[in-house]
Amino acid sequence: MNKKLMVILVALACVSCNPKTQTRMNEPEKNLQMIAQKAGEYAPFTLTADLTSLTVRERQMLPLLFEAASLMEEIFWKEAFGDKSLLFEGVTHQELRKFLEINYGPWERLNNNEPFLSSYGPKPKGAQFYPQDMTREEFEAWDEPSKSSLYTLIRRDQAGKLAAVPYHVAFKEETEKAAELIRKAAELADDPGLKKYLNARAEALLTDAYFESDMLWMDMKSNSIEFIVGPIENYEDQLFGYKAAHEAFVLVKDLEWSKKLEKYTALLPGLQQNLPVPPEYKSETPGVDSDMNVYDALYYAGDCNAGSKTIAINLPNDEKVQAAKGSRKLQLKNSMQAKFDKILVPIAELLIDSAQLKHVRFDAFFENTMFHEVAHGLGPSMTLGRPVSVRMALKDAYTSLEESKADILGLWCVHRLNETGEFPGKDMMDNYVTFMAGIFRSVRFGAASAHGKANMIRFNYFKEQG
Ligand code: ZN
Repeated sequence: MNKKLMVILVALACVSCNPKTQTRMNEPEKNLQMIAQKAGEYAPFTLTADLTSLTVRERQMLPLLFEAASLMEEIFWKEAFGDKSLLFEGVTHQELRKFLEINYGPWERLNNNEPFLSSYGPKPKGAQFYPQDMTREEFEAWDEPSKSSLYTLIRRDQAGKLAAVPYHVAFKEETEKAAELIRKAAELADDPGLKKYLNARAEALLTDAYFESDMLWMDMKSNSIEFIVGPIENYEDQLFGYKAAHEAFVLVKDLEWSKKLEKYTALLPGLQQNLPVPPEYKSETPGVDSDMNVYDALYYAGDCNAGSKTIAINLPNDEKVQAAKGSRKLQLKNSMQAKFDKILVPIAELLIDSAQLKHVRFDAFFENTMFHEVAHGLGPSMTLGRPVSVRMALKDAYTSLEESKADILGLWCVHRLNETGEFPGKDMMDNYVTFMAGIFRSVRFGAASAHGKANMIRFNYFKEQG
């Protein structure tokens, strides 16, 4: 390690400690009660998964991957908050501990990051990716090519100047440990594609060069274990959106459902031909090369575990990889089951006619969600007679109309495939009633959300049509 890096690391240790370390024990009782209530609003759910498709060696991989994932958790804490031990010091209030863990800090993620502890002010927009005293102007005037890299932390050196520290340097201890664990897991991997990917991913954590491992991730098709790991999404950096936050998912592929989806994707051109619209709107041929699979989640760590839980993933984000290999959609079935049991069913019990409640079923919820994704690939992408895409023509109305299209067209796909005998023994009423209950679930996202608006549009349409 050269001297310059040493200096940066010393400075890093200083700025990463949060100045506000007063004990939380002087938190007003009223505030603690509110926190306890908020923490109680998060429904606990035990994720289960069928591991019978895994070989003995693959099962031995899991604890290694969990441990590697927990290191991403440690890194994410540093990115989101700083030194976690200072935050929890002297905190014995159980609900407060739980709420701090859910939010990875003292700011409430599902409430616009409002601080919930009186000793903390607003969450820094750039989280801990940048020095707290850095201004936008200072950053913009700084001549440093790696400053906007996904994989650098911005810190101050001892002279007070800005310095870009690569992730593999800033998080050396965690990434080296994680790489070692991932390589051990790779030794146990029976699937050659998975073995290659895991080794490349371990290397990427040590170098911050992720391209090769992303390409290998897209190449692997027959693996049962799925491991997504590293700095991936950049939502946590709300200052510039440059910095990727660390996370990990350990997933097991649901082979049966993944096979079914493969079959339905192949049926897309036929579905498109039968859309109930004039022929000029179905002249495009939908792509059938999309990679869509169903998984059960075993472990969430870091960014994807903060606040609300991710139930669907679309990766990689690197456009170069997307251009070469497309992207993969991952649907997390047991996490969807959690949303169904803990959110959709209670809403349905309040709002659906009791005679129809028996039609609110997980299988239907899951199908409706799956075919929503399938339906995104159907319909025109270009307007008629003009070289303008539908997206460009619809402008700010595009996302909500596209989501609404995907919802209703997804339901139509289930209906159509049922007609052609793809779902023996199906009662379409399950899909219709569950769809209606789903509207009441999704309007909660509000008018600021494309999904919220899409559901409101359909609710009004159904109401008008009686
Ligand atoms: Zn969608």
